[in-house]
Amino acid sequence: MLYLVGTPIGNMQDLSSRAIEILSHVELVACEDTRRTGLLLSHFGISAKLMSYHEHNKAAAGSKLISRLKEGAEIALVSDAGMPSISDPGEDLVKACIEEGIDVTTVPGPVAGISALVLSGMDTRHYYFEGFLPVESKERKIRIDVVSKMPSTTILYEAPHRLLRTLSDLSEAGNGNRKASAARELTKKFEQVVRGTIDELISHFEEVPPKGEFVLVLEGAVGKEEKRVLTSEERQNRIIYLENSGMSTKEIAKTLALEWGESKKALYDEVLKMIK
Ligand code: SAM
Repeated sequence: MLYLVGTPIGNMQDLSSRAIEILSHVELVACEDTRRTGLLLSHFGISAKLMSYHEHNKAAAGSKLISRLKEGAEIALVSDAGMPSISDPGEDLVKACIEEGIDVTTVPGPVAGISALVLSGMDTRHYYFEGFLPVESKERKIRIDVVSKMPSTTILYEAPHRLLRTLSDLSEAGNGNRKASAARELTKKFEQVVRGTIDELISHFEEVPPKGEFVLVLEGAVGKEEKRVLTSEERQNRIIYLENSGMSTKEIAKTLALEWGESKKALYDEVLKMIK
């Protein structure tokens, strides 16, 4: 059995009691950095056998792990922080286990992206996880185009020394007025969430240089797109729908101003003309 075990993203106390139990009883803990995981385990008095499994040795180390798992070994996989397999090694090993008929389970723990999403105050019903943008320019442009059109709340990971460049690239791609939040050092002493438009975040981080680990959350880009394609019939239908739901002209204008990003006064006149 392979256990995918979530570990803290900053605050040691976020290691669950089930994670402690599993990490204490498995035969082997596969981890990105044996020193780092060793420190975490010793903090909880766990002495486990560690094996290194990271981006650069995952093919060879993965085969060894699969052989042990096939012999019936109980093995835990952890990453340096958060959930393994989320912008961290793990998915190849899970795929191999599935192919080999080896049981895989999870001991869930913190994920930086989800923690930043719930703190962003943005739509959490539909969200999209991009993770790190590629550094190489052609690939990067393709992903920025995807993010620029993404209708769902979008989550990005970024290193502090690249944060301003990423914000500027997003702004240049037409996202300057898009709402965003930058969550920094989550669960740690200097946790902070900076909210504003992308251009406002640029001004902020030009004054206060980014330090620590960051997650960027962007509001979905759908509003702009929908506004452009709404036909007059669709506009009318929406107004009639809101009127039938019992709203006053003023309430309809206020709702649509928020929904369509248009002037409340102009919408008030439009609604009044239509329902007369
Ligand atoms: N597996 C991890 C997870 O479940 O979130 C992500 C690992 S990824 C290699 C590391 C990135 O996650 C960092 O560069 C940063 O963008 C984000 N991150 C990790 N810990 C964080 C924290 N405490 N606060 C803000 N962002 C964090």
